[in-house]
Amino acid sequence: MRLRAFLAVLALAVPCVLAEGLPDLGEASQAGFSPLQERRLGESIMREVRADRSFFDDAEATDYINNLGNRLASRSPDSRQDFDFFLIQDGQINAFALPGGFVGVNTGLILAAQSESEVASVLAHEIAHVTQRHIARMIAQQKQSQLVSLASLAAAILLSRVSSQAAEAAAAFGQASVVQGQLNFTRDNEREADRVGLQILDQAGFDPRAMATFFERLQRATRLYETGAPSYLRTHPLTFERIADIQGRTQNLHYRQVPDSLEFQLIRAKLKARFDPPREAVAFFEAGLAERKFLSEAASHYGLATSLMRVRDYARARKELEALRKRAPASPIVETLACELAYNAGDQGAALACYREALKTYPGYRALIYDYANALLQARQPEAALRFIEGRLQSVTDDYRLYLLQARSYAALNKRLGQHRAQAEAYARMGNITAAVEQLQIGLKSGDGDFYQLSSAEARLRELRRLDEELRKEQRK
Ligand SMILES: [Zn+2]
Repeated sequence: MRLRAFLAVLALAVPCVLAEGLPDLGEASQAGFSPLQERRLGESIMREVRADRSFFDDAEATDYINNLGNRLASRSPDSRQDFDFFLIQDGQINAFALPGGFVGVNTGLILAAQSESEVASVLAHEIAHVTQRHIARMIAQQKQSQLVSLASLAAAILLSRVSSQAAEAAAAFGQASVVQGQLNFTRDNEREADRVGLQILDQAGFDPRAMATFFERLQRATRLYETGAPSYLRTHPLTFERIADIQGRTQNLHYRQVPDSLEFQLIRAKLKARFDPPREAVAFFEAGLAERKFLSEAASHYGLATSLMRVRDYARARKELEALRKRAPASPIVETLACELAYNAGDQGAALACYREALKTYPGYRALIYDYANALLQARQPEAALRFIEGRLQSVTDDYRLYLLQARSYAALNKRLGQHRAQAEAYARMGNITAAVEQLQIGLKSGDGDFYQLSSAEARLRELRRLDEELRKEQRK
């Protein structure tokens, strides 16, 4: 994590929400740290997370983890809490909750899990930390016990949760490292998150026994690690008592065989196919199919087709895709791969036709939308790309990736004002107001745009400047 940049951003963005002293007791919600303030702190951390190389912004995988997470969260005791689930490209087994309902999941966790219920059990546990307000209480206590700025707290939380090399990174920044050691959950927190997490898991229709199974596997794996425990165990200390406790709670529940969803199998295969070295991935899926050793045959064909695409063996990739279609029900994940295959094989016309056809069936599927717009831009059809994106923006107004694609379309059309205006809207939705203001200023100086576009951009600039000022003022207080 680039901590220095992170603190610079924080200095602009984080109001001094904890200026007044907090009453004791763990009542963070009623005391000085409201859910709204917690959300703002979480958003400021997310700005840094999104800028990090390890942030894995794959639309399909992110949509999958959000669908799974929100299905669980809707069964939690506090279903009003907003949740945002996101992925970190990291082989270590880890998942973590940030303030405000942001929950990160390492790709390594999904790959290590042997069933969807296992992934769900870790998510349910993290969701419980959020709804039980463990993080808010932890922050409130830190503010009471020592003079720590919110910025260094945020940095410490980020380091202790996200980074695999948290220890070294924290050592480079004194104050954060002081706080960081005290930001772990207590044993009581863990027990409560297990208890509530199990209820959520059961209510959402997953196998509650998967929690103990997964934690046991983690613990066994720990003994094999020479360099120390997986990150997850650093922030969620795991003991034999805890596992026994979880097992005791699940004893009275009905046994339930829960089949994995097709999405889980396909996304898991996708991560393997994308992150392993390409030849190794091909060999892995080939061997699995040859020996019939797999969790899902359809997913193995999907994984093999994806890996073959990476090594540019398009003819064999197409055959695997056909094998996949015979074994899997209709799915936007399969159609997205089919179109991507045509696109990567260099058949532009076929790729564009494929996207148009797939979008008829799955008009709201983000991966298809982004890939189609990108294919249009690559095919030098910026007008068509712009029409398509602006059609989407009629109904979806909070997606920064649509604005980034809009900016690229305007750039290709040499429309400077439109380009910088769209770039500004993208930054604003990523929470970077200062950068948004800069983009509008550049756009207005470009000498481009008609009267209507110019006055609209000027009005937006005034609005964003006011917001930028407010945030700076709050910081100075
Ligand atoms: Zn925990």
